[in-house]
Amino acid sequence: FKRKKIELGIDLNDVQKKAVVQTEGPLLLLACPGSGKTTTMIMRIGYLIEEKKVNPNRIKAITFSRASAQDMAERFKRFFPDSTPVGFSTIHSLAFKIARTYLEKTGTTYELIEGQARQKINKSFLLKGIYKEVHKDDCTDDELSSLSTFISSIKNKMLLPEKWESLKGPVDKAGLIAKKYEQYKSQQVGHLLLDFDDMLTIAEEALRLDEDLCDQFRMKYDYLLTDESQDTSFVQHRIVEHLASRHGNVCVVADDDQSIYTWRGAEPDYLLNFKSVYPDAQVLMMERNYRSSKEIVETTAKFIKRNKNRYPKDMYTENASVAPITIKQLDDPKRQLEYVTYELLGETNLNEVAILFRNNSSSTRYVSELHRRGIPFYMKDADDKFFTHWIVEDILNFMRLSFNTERKDVFSKIIMKMNLFVSNNMLREFNSANTTGNVFDAFAQTIELRTNQVQKLTEYKTIYESIPDQRPAQVIRIIRNELGYEAGLRSRAEKFGFRIDHLLGILDTLEEIASQVRTMVEFATRLKELEEAVQNAKYNPAENAVTLSTLHSAKGLEFRRVFMIDLQNGIIPSEDDESDVRLLEEARRLFYVGMTRAKQNLELLSYRNDEGKTKEDSKFLNEIRGLLLKPTKVANDSEKIPTSKLGVPINMSGIGDVAGLPVGTNIRHRVFGIGKIISIQDDKITIQFDKMEKVLDLETILKYRILE
Ligand code: ATP
Ligand code: MG
Repeated sequence: FKRKKIELGIDLNDVQKKAVVQTEGPLLLLACPGSGKTTTMIMRIGYLIEEKKVNPNRIKAITFSRASAQDMAERFKRFFPDSTPVGFSTIHSLAFKIARTYLEKTGTTYELIEGQARQKINKSFLLKGIYKEVHKDDCTDDELSSLSTFISSIKNKMLLPEKWESLKGPVDKAGLIAKKYEQYKSQQVGHLLLDFDDMLTIAEEALRLDEDLCDQFRMKYDYLLTDESQDTSFVQHRIVEHLASRHGNVCVVADDDQSIYTWRGAEPDYLLNFKSVYPDAQVLMMERNYRSSKEIVETTAKFIKRNKNRYPKDMYTENASVAPITIKQLDDPKRQLEYVTYELLGETNLNEVAILFRNNSSSTRYVSELHRRGIPFYMKDADDKFFTHWIVEDILNFMRLSFNTERKDVFSKIIMKMNLFVSNNMLREFNSANTTGNVFDAFAQTIELRTNQVQKLTEYKTIYESIPDQRPAQVIRIIRNELGYEAGLRSRAEKFGFRIDHLLGILDTLEEIASQVRTMVEFATRLKELEEAVQNAKYNPAENAVTLSTLHSAKGLEFRRVFMIDLQNGIIPSEDDESDVRLLEEARRLFYVGMTRAKQNLELLSYRNDEGKTKEDSKFLNEIRGLLLKPTKVANDSEKIPTSKLGVPINMSGIGDVAGLPVGTNIRHRVFGIGKIISIQDDKITIQFDKMEKVLDLETILKYRILE
C-alpha cells in the first residue's frame, strides 16, 4: 500500500496518514482547500479494502453533488485501478433509496412533484397557485425560485411545520405560503405528493422510527465517509448519524471556509459541534495546501481571514512560487471575452484550464465565442435553458413577423409585448375576427383603439417594412428600442416588482451573437447550433476542453490555470449580499472557493464599462489588490516623521489601505483636489481629476495617506 502511494507521487503527511489508518470510530477532518481531504478520503477507502480486506460493498462514500460523486469515483479508479468499485453516491440518492423502501413497505402510494413530474401537479405550479391565492397577484420567476429554495431550506433545517407560518422568507408571507403548500400536498387522500426535500425528511423519519428498516440500512455499510460536509444540511447529517449509530465508523470531511450552500439549508455549524454528537470523535486539522502556488496560497489565506464567522485555520504551503496573481480590469465585457479567448488560443492543454463565474448567464457569450472559434469546452452545469428562454422566443417571433407581415399567429404572440397597452380582450377579439392583409392595418381596423395606439401601429408597420434589409444585430436594437419591447419589459418589471437586469443581459447577449451573422435566418440557425453545442459540452465534451463552470459547481476541482470573470460589485457580492453580513461572508467564501481552484495561474478579471454604464470592481477584488501590495510600514512615534515626495505633510487620517479605495469612488487628493478612481492595476492607481487623468504610484499614495 505504501509503495502504491509513492508510485502515485503522493507521500501522505502525518495527519493524512492518521486519517487513513484511523478507520474505527468517528473522525472529523476539518481542513483547508487543497490540503488533500478528498485524496485522504480515497486513500482511506483504498486502505480499508487493500489492507483491512473490507468488502467494497460495505463502504459508502457520500458526496454533495452528482458531479463530485463522479469526480471521486474517477479519482478512486485512478488510484486503485484493480479494486472493485465502491459506492459513491450523493446524499440525495441514498436518502431516496431509504425513503422509497419505506414508502413501499408501508404501502403508501406517492407521486414526486419535482424533476420529471407531471405538468399540472408540480412544485412550481402549486406554489404559483398558492401565491396568487395569498397575494391576489401573479408571482415572478424570481419570487417563485426564491420561494422554492425557502421551502427547501426550512425542510432541510427540520423546522417544525407549526413554526413555518411565522418564518420570515424571501417574499411577503412566505411562511404562510409554505404552510399552505404543505397542507395542499397532504390533502390528497391516500396518495402523497412529495418534493425532493420530503424524500430527505421521510428517510430521516423512517430511520428514526422504524427500527427494522433502520437496521436493514445500518447493516449494509460498515464504513461511512462524507466529503464536502460543510454543505450538508441538518436532515442530511441526521440521516448519516442514524446509519452510523451501530458502529460509529464515520469519517466526515469538511472545510467551513468553503461552505457555500447555507441559502439552501446547509448547516456548517454542525461541524463545530461534532463532538457533542460523537463525543469520542477524533478531530484532525490539515492546513498545508498541496495544490496551489505559494502566491495563491498566501494571498487567499489572508483573504478568507476577513471573515469573522469561521473556525480559525492557517493555510500554508511548501509549494514554490510560480507567478503573481493576475488582476486585470478590461474596458468592457467584450474586451474581457477577447482577452480570455486570446489566452485560450495559446493553451495546448485546455483541460487544465477553467473559466469560472458566479451566474450561469455569464457563460452564454463565452459559449458563443468559443464555439465560433472552434475551442472545445466542457460545461458541467450548462444553462441549456438560455436558448429556450421566453426572451429568445420573443425576439425570434418579432423577426419572424418581418418575413410575412400577414401572419396573425405570429403577431398574436408579440403584440402584447410592444408596449401598446393592448389587452387580452382586444387580442381575443382580433383573433376571432376574420381579417386578412397586413396585421398592423388589420388590427387598427378591427379593434377600437385610442388615437395614439393607432399612430403607433402605423409607425410600427413602417418600421417593419425596413426590417428585412437590416443586419440581425440592428434588428434586435430596433425591436428593443423602436418597437417598444424594452419599454414593455421595463414597465412589466416595475408592475410586478421583478429585476430586469438579467433580462436585459439576455438581450445584450443575443445582440452579440447576432453581430456575428449577416441574416436573420443565419441568426436563428446560429442559436440552434449553440443550443446543440451546449448540449454537447454537457453530455459529450471533447477530450481536451476548457471547463466553463459556476463557482458553486467548481467546488472540489482543480485546474492549472483559472480565469475568474465578471468580478463586479452587483454580481459578487450581489446587492443582496451587501445587505447582510452573513450573506457577504458567504459570497466571500464563494470567491475563495473560486480562487483556490487554481494550481499555478490565477487570473481575476473585471471590466469598467458595460453598454455605456460605469461598472465597479468587486470589493473582493479590491481586497485582493490590497493584499498583493507589499506591506507598507506605517510611521510610528519613534520614527522620524516622513515627509512625502510631494512635500505634503503626512495626514494620518487619510486612506492607508487599498480596500478603502474601490474603483469608482470619489476622493480628495492632497495636491490635485477632487477626483475619481478609474482603476487600480498592479502598483499604479489611475485617478480622473477635473482637468486631467493621472497615473500615480499606489504604494506612495497609501504610505503617505495622500487620499481622503
Ligand atoms: P478541496 O477543499 O478543494 O476539495 P482537498 O482538500 O479535497 O481540496 P485534494 O483535492 O484532495 O484537496 O488535493 C489537492 C491536491 O493536492 C491534489 O492534486 C492532490 O493530488 C494533492 N495532494 C494531496 N495530498 C498530497 C500529498 N501528501 N503529497 C502530494 N500531493 C498531495
Ligand atoms: Mg476535496
